[in-house]
Amino acid sequence: MADTILVVEDESAIREMVVFALERAGFSIVAAADAARAQAMIVESAPDLVLLDWMLPGLSGVDFARRLKKEEATRQIPVIMLTARSEEMDKVKGFEVGADDYVTKPFSPRELVARIKAVLRRAAPEVNDKPMEVSGLWLDPGSHRVTIRGEAIDLGPTEFRLLHFFMRHPERVYSRGQLLDKVWGNDVYIEERTVDVHIRRLRKALTTGGHDRLIQTVRGTGYRFSAKIS
Ligand code: CA
Repeated sequence: MADTILVVEDESAIREMVVFALERAGFSIVAAADAARAQAMIVESAPDLVLLDWMLPGLSGVDFARRLKKEEATRQIPVIMLTARSEEMDKVKGFEVGADDYVTKPFSPRELVARIKAVLRRAAPEVNDKPMEVSGLWLDPGSHRVTIRGEAIDLGPTEFRLLHFFMRHPERVYSRGQLLDKVWGNDVYIEERTVDVHIRRLRKALTTGGHDRLIQTVRGTGYRFSAKIS
């Protein structure tokens, strides 16, 4: 499945070049010309990485990066800053905004793609293999075991992948289309209501101890996995 990258860049020539290069590299792209629009797109696009220009009209890239790293819902999204000069890069580093990497303009599309892949690789393995826990619900990606207070829960492969995805991305709303893309992969054609079927099965399997309540329906949007049982 393709990783989604949110490109935030006000200069249209650079933005178009970047979008073209990243699409060619197989990424799925959403683009915005300023931080306000990018902020509005974050929920709907659920990006795997944000490529963020440092000089933007309105809220600067640096301030937007800081905001992304402060918010619970966006903190885990890797951010790569684009800077015009190496002095800016030093400044960005000095600001300690929590960016995961920095790329100085001008850059080659090839270099940019390599840096993005490296950051995504760094972001992925750690969360993929470690056992995860939410309110006594454990998921071990290594052994494919799911337990609630030590008791094994029997899940089908799709429900397992769905739960694994949710546990890696708590407190974020995903539409059915996004879940299909992220959990099933965007190369398969499945109707959106299939998602509801698997959500129902997953909830049923998690009813012990009320963990079904972790999976919340967000009216008109999709689903959200809560970080704790409410
Ligand atoms: Ca700019």
